[in-house]
Amino acid sequence: MTRNQTDLRVHRPLGDIAQAGEFVLYWMQTTMRARENFAFNYAAERANELGQPVLVYQGLRRDYPWASDRLHRFILESAADIARDFRDMGVQYVFFLDRGSGEASPLVSLARRASLVVTDYYPTFIVPRQTARLRQILGASPPVVSIDSTTVIPLAHFDRQFTSARAFRPRLLEALPHYLHPVPTIEPRVRRAVEPPFDPVDFRRADLAELVSSCPIDHSVPPVPAFVGGSRAARERLARYLETGKPTTGLSPYLHFGNISPHEILLRTREAGTVEQNRHLQEQLLVWRELSHNVAHHDPAHRTIEVIPAWARQELATHAADPRPVLYPLEVLERATTDEELWDTAQRAYLTQGYMPNYLRMLWGKSVLQWTENYQQAFEVLVHLNNKYALDGRDPNSYASIAWIFGKFYRPFYRRPIYGLVRYLSLNAARKKPELREALGQLEPTEPASSRAGQAELFEAPQDANPGSGRKPLDRQRVRQRRVEQG
Ligand SMILES: Cc1cc2nc3c(=O)[nH]c(=O)nc-3n(C[C@H](O)[C@H](O)[C@H](O)COP(=O)(O)OP(=O)(O)OC[C@H]3O[C@@H](n4cnc5c(N)ncnc54)[C@H](O)[C@@H]3O)c2cc1C
Repeated sequence: MTRNQTDLRVHRPLGDIAQAGEFVLYWMQTTMRARENFAFNYAAERANELGQPVLVYQGLRRDYPWASDRLHRFILESAADIARDFRDMGVQYVFFLDRGSGEASPLVSLARRASLVVTDYYPTFIVPRQTARLRQILGASPPVVSIDSTTVIPLAHFDRQFTSARAFRPRLLEALPHYLHPVPTIEPRVRRAVEPPFDPVDFRRADLAELVSSCPIDHSVPPVPAFVGGSRAARERLARYLETGKPTTGLSPYLHFGNISPHEILLRTREAGTVEQNRHLQEQLLVWRELSHNVAHHDPAHRTIEVIPAWARQELATHAADPRPVLYPLEVLERATTDEELWDTAQRAYLTQGYMPNYLRMLWGKSVLQWTENYQQAFEVLVHLNNKYALDGRDPNSYASIAWIFGKFYRPFYRRPIYGLVRYLSLNAARKKPELREALGQLEPTEPASSRAGQAELFEAPQDANPGSGRKPLDRQRVRQRRVEQG
């Protein structure tokens, strides 16, 4: 890799390395892997230049939005894997679990002892705010450098936002040969143990279920046994994908939590995948995923409805007063108890499996637009359901894909009520499509629709704050009535 290519991954603030520092701190936020990690490599390179060790620190807060057993469990499983990999590499890795017992996060006190803090660059969710806050607390010294390990082409490579896959594709493919190479791991040379100011989790002895249940988070969203967190599980899944020749990978949770690099997936698929798999990943993992990240990187409003194009907003506003076939309150949607069995099947996949194939997500999202009072509410509901239940939620892909439901990246289509010129997908028409059979085939078997026992359990505990909680729930009887009246 040339110096230039490295530099595009470096988001560097002003400030000099603190001469009196004891170590280089890598504060791992989103790239949850020990290898093929540009941020760790950067930390190791600087540490080698300074003749200091690298200390890797990861903390898990109890109060991030949608914190639940499902997300905590996946992160802790990833951390157990990382701990093992760093032990093998002779690198010190310490993990702080915030159990709400009053023990303050040790991040600031560790950072103050460092000559340099390196962290992950990630353009969305709580990460930009967390990084900015640490910079603010520390002032100029030590500097906090954030490194982009997220995409194949560094986000800073493109100095503008792209509005369609068609415009983005040729630019991305042109840049690809410069960037798509194996990512080596830099070995830190100095191995000196650092005394941490807290008791890190010892993953050799930890009972992960006990750790999760000890945290004050939403215990109503259970872990998903089919998705075990960590780089090992990610590689096993990739190997199975290549062996079976299946069209889709099921790797989105692992990409979201940074357990595997997109480089590794693409290069392994080039070696051992089918032509169809390579074509599929070029389109989905490269074009669509990197386009979503491009939007999150350039548009500060990407988590809001403001991200959709003006024509789409205009269309949805013009059709705001169109009668809806039915209005479902958040609770009915969330519990998968609408009158549309196909939609409920899709939502149940989120509830129980934390995952949904792409075609189902498209139908799932498009339907909500006609079942809510307005498009702004539909956007909020989708963000909430997606980010609360999907293991891969809270990602640039989440926000960009939900925006796609409302016309992002797309051209005006045929006019119809509620949607205006924003493209509509009908559940009825989808029932005849082979894509639907294929998507349903990717789901794990679940409870039949009539048996809601599993879901009732899922909803016993109180819910965390959600965007619908401030709204007056619609009366279900009234909703049905309105539907009958509208024929
Ligand atoms: C309403 C809606 C919500 C979505 N929410 C999310 C989300 O929260 N997180 C998420 O990662 N994806 C989301 N997607 C995109 C897509 O559905 C998932 O990435 C995909 O289903 C994941 O399955 P897979 O790993 O088997 O994908 P594969 O088909 O194996 O593709 C490989 C990788 O490419 C990326 N990818 C695939 N499809 C898309 C796409 N359409 N846009 C952007 N990247 C893509 C993912 O990282 C995926 O893991 C959403 C799509 C819709 C329509």
